[in-house]
Amino acid sequence: AADDQKPDKWVKGVCRYCGTGCGVMVGVKNGKAVAIQGDPNNHNAGLLCLKGSLLIPVLNSKERVTQPMVRRKKGGPLEPVSWDEALDLMASKFRHSIDTYGANSVAWYGSGQCLTEESYLANKIFKAGFGTNNVDGNPRLCMASAVGGYTTTFGKDEPMGTYADIDQATCFFIIGSNTSEAHPVLFRRIARRKQVEPGIKIIVADPRRTNTARIADMHVAFRPGTDLAFMHSMAWVIINEELDNPRFWQRYVSFVDAEGKPSDFEGYKAFLENYRPEKVAEICRVPVEQIYSAARAFAESSATMSLWCMGINQRVQGVFANNLIHNLHLLTGQICRPGATPFSLTGQPNACGGVRDTGALSHLLPAGRAIPNPKHRAEMEKLWGLPEGRISPNPGYHTVALFEALGRGDVKCMVICETNPAHTLPNLNKVHKAMSHPESFIVCIEAFPDAVTLQYADLVLAPSFWCERDGVYGCGERRYSLTEKAVDSPGQCRPTVNTLVEFAKRAGVDPKLVNFKNAEDVWNEWRMVAKGTTYDFYGMTRERLRKESGIIWPCPSEDHPGTNLRFVRGHDPLVPADHPDKFFFYGKPDGKPTIFMRPAKGAAEEPDAEYPLYLTSMRVIDHWHTATMTGKVPELLKANPAAFVEINEQDAASLGVKHGDNVILETRRDKMELPARVSDVCRPGLVAVPFFDPKKLVNKLFLDATDPGSREPEYKICAARVRKV
Ligand code: SF4
Repeated sequence: AADDQKPDKWVKGVCRYCGTGCGVMVGVKNGKAVAIQGDPNNHNAGLLCLKGSLLIPVLNSKERVTQPMVRRKKGGPLEPVSWDEALDLMASKFRHSIDTYGANSVAWYGSGQCLTEESYLANKIFKAGFGTNNVDGNPRLCMASAVGGYTTTFGKDEPMGTYADIDQATCFFIIGSNTSEAHPVLFRRIARRKQVEPGIKIIVADPRRTNTARIADMHVAFRPGTDLAFMHSMAWVIINEELDNPRFWQRYVSFVDAEGKPSDFEGYKAFLENYRPEKVAEICRVPVEQIYSAARAFAESSATMSLWCMGINQRVQGVFANNLIHNLHLLTGQICRPGATPFSLTGQPNACGGVRDTGALSHLLPAGRAIPNPKHRAEMEKLWGLPEGRISPNPGYHTVALFEALGRGDVKCMVICETNPAHTLPNLNKVHKAMSHPESFIVCIEAFPDAVTLQYADLVLAPSFWCERDGVYGCGERRYSLTEKAVDSPGQCRPTVNTLVEFAKRAGVDPKLVNFKNAEDVWNEWRMVAKGTTYDFYGMTRERLRKESGIIWPCPSEDHPGTNLRFVRGHDPLVPADHPDKFFFYGKPDGKPTIFMRPAKGAAEEPDAEYPLYLTSMRVIDHWHTATMTGKVPELLKANPAAFVEINEQDAASLGVKHGDNVILETRRDKMELPARVSDVCRPGLVAVPFFDPKKLVNKLFLDATDPGSREPEYKICAARVRKV
């Protein structure tokens, strides 16, 4: 910075974008944020990607919601309103709805961008204060299948490894993740290893030849939806070439067959006979050698790390696909050692810490507890000081069902906090109709006035944004880091914790339940609630988080350094020091994670004669989610100004489409005109669209079929057709 712009002080925080959760330092001069740099002491070692390094213009953008606004009549304009009037109106609408139609007529739709304290508090207000489990959020759209995968295989959510494993792995199996564009700082760490250590192997399995695939030793461009068969076939090779690790699986693994019944290794071997490489290569349309080579590299390396993201999770078989990645690690013993681990990447800065861990989803309670479990409900009732039976035993609506309920008029009042569902949900025309229901009352807590969802808001509340308030983010590696308040908010913006406390009191929630003055008070209660559970982070006092650049849980005491290797004796404080085994998977009653025999099935909607192409959703490096933030940065907007459809050269030639031509992209739900980007990125038969552009709501094209376990929608596959305009 020029001398007159040199910051007076640097304040520690976390990047506002992706789940990598890079530590940042915000430079402040005369009360204004003027600079940003990577925190050298956090996991990113001072590195930031382009988006992260351009966060200051977003914070200082003039396009902010700076005061509450009300729409007095459906279809009318949003008008400024005082905080008092806004909160009274909101409280009276919610109270009336609960008193007249029952507690399940109201809902919270949150986000992996909310602070941990905000998600914890909202969860408590709705589940304990109002008595409804209608608490869900956008993590349902991105990582619910990863939660399902960890929970079913290991009995506990969240990865056993950390980003530090990237520095130890000698083989990377990257499937369904375009790490280079979605998690650039982690990709740089992987690419650097590859650059300086020639022995490092990278296998990328993805139907698109992304920038991630371009540094790989092997790119497996399987036909969309056939990755489960591919992974089963890898397991077949591993067993048939005796590359498995019986010493590990005999001691630590249990087997469950396709019907969900207990089985054994012989049963697994017999099941895998359906996935012989020669047959699977035809199904996947990949060279059969790739299956053999990928399996050998995975099993034979000294340490294999799998990384995956939306390509695996956003599927109707998302949980099963997660299970199959875990299968490969359990079969080979590539787990719970430095560099050897399955590791799901996550999309948002606080989906893990804020939503997964606090249980702010419709089927969960805090710290790994589940709504249907009577013991868990009783524990939370005691911790929250509730009468017995207050927490409903029935899970609330998951995201897709929640908006359907809004459309039916069953849910009448909803808070939408720091997320943009009118842009991001699949099958959007249906969602827009639901959000226009004449009896609905939608409150948006949203910092940016151009978020599409505000078009459906009856009330808009102005939140403090990012480093204008303090709070904790939990990134993809179980690391909690504090973002400290660096600057004041503009206009009348308020910290959402204060807004929620005030709303709850006015809506008649017992004041004892929301007796919090600030986020730190909420944090301290949340530490107590998680204490003694397998999510224990009691040792992370606010003071410690201020001093340190993130700590990884479990961290049960103030002198505990945090845990890199989970489930490992001598590392994980939850494994007794005198445990007879080196590894103890305490999430399972018998201490043994499960190899599941999950049959591979197709997508919910496969191409056919009418719609012959696969359509998938993709990311670009310059934008994050719906571009309400990155769209404020001219450099990023210039790099990728608008949506497009990516088409393979062969398909473009047969359609008579040239690069830059406008085409009509059509599915069974809608159609839209987009410019074509012709390249070798998509495999033939596949087209891809990014979803950041608010002027082209491409999610109108996708279907809202969900995984039956995680209820995560299948954004990654549907059937489409393309014609030249
Ligand atoms: Fe921010 Fe993600 Fe970039 Fe890190 S990689 S700077 S968290 S956008």
